[in-house]
Amino acid sequence: MTRTALVTGGTRGIGGAISMALKSAGHTVVANYAGNEEVARAFADATGIKVVKFDVGDFQSSTDGLAKAEELAGAPIDILVNNAGITRDTMFHKMSKAQWDEVVNVDLGSMFNVTRPLIDGLRERGWGRIINISSINGQKGQMGQVNYSAAKAGVIGFTKALAQETARKGITVNCITPGYINTEMVAAVPEKVLASIVAGIPVGRLGEADEIGALCVYLSSEEAGFVTGSTLTINGGQYLA
Ligand code: NDP
Repeated sequence: MTRTALVTGGTRGIGGAISMALKSAGHTVVANYAGNEEVARAFADATGIKVVKFDVGDFQSSTDGLAKAEELAGAPIDILVNNAGITRDTMFHKMSKAQWDEVVNVDLGSMFNVTRPLIDGLRERGWGRIINISSINGQKGQMGQVNYSAAKAGVIGFTKALAQETARKGITVNCITPGYINTEMVAAVPEKVLASIVAGIPVGRLGEADEIGALCVYLSSEEAGFVTGSTLTINGGQYLA
C-alpha cells in the first residue's frame, strides 16, 4: 500500500536519500528544507519530489509547513521522518548559550514542533509511522558535542515514550541511530580525525545514506507494524548499543 510521507531536511544528505527511497517504494513524498533554495530546487527538478520550506525549530513555522506539505501531497501525511538536524561543535567550556540553544531547539525541539501538529490526524486515521533520526553520538556521547549528544539522546527518550502512547492507535514510533555516514556533515570533519574514526569502524568504511533510506522504507511498511519504540543502530559495528 502506498502512503504519503514528509521528510524533514529531506532535500540533501541522509534526508535526500530517505526521500528518494520512500518515493522508490511508491509513496508520495514531500521534502522539507530550511533555506538552501538552490539545493532544494535542484533536488525537486532531479527527483520530481515536491519541496516545502519551513523551520523545524519553530512550532508555528512547522505547523504551517505541515499544512502546506499536505496540500502539496494532496492527502494527509501518514509517514513522518524527523531527519533535519544541525551541529554546532565545540568543547563545553567554550560553548555559548546560543550554540546550546540552537542545537537543542533544532535537533530535539523539532520532535515536538513537527510531530505535535501531525499526531491528532494520525490518531484519528488509526495508522502512522514516525521515524526519528538520532545519532550514535546520542548513545555513546561525543567530546565536542555536548549539545548534539544531549539533543540526540533526547530523541531516543521521545521515541520510547511516544511509542507507548500511540501503540494502540496503529502508529509506530522508532528511532534510527546512524554512525558515521558519508555526507557533507561528515566531510566537514578534519581529515585526520575522519581517518581515525574510519579506523574504529569494524566494517572499515563510512555508511552510505542509501542504507538509512532502506531502513526507513522498512520501518514505514505495513510489515513493520510490530516494531515500535525501537532504537535501530546502523553504524558498521562501531558502537554496540
Ligand atoms: P545535512 O547537513 O547534509 O542536511 C541537513 C538537512 O536538514 C538539510 O536539508 C537542511 O536544509 C535541513 N535543516 C537544517 N536545519 C533545519 C531547520 N531548522 N529546519 C528545516 N530543515 C533544516 O545533514 P545530514 O544528512 O548529515 O544529517 C541528517 C540527519 O542525520 C541529522 O539529524 C543528523 O544529525 C543525523 N546524523 C547524521 C550523521 C552523519 O554521519 N551525517 C550521523 C548520525 C546522525 P537546507 O538544505 O535548507 O539547509
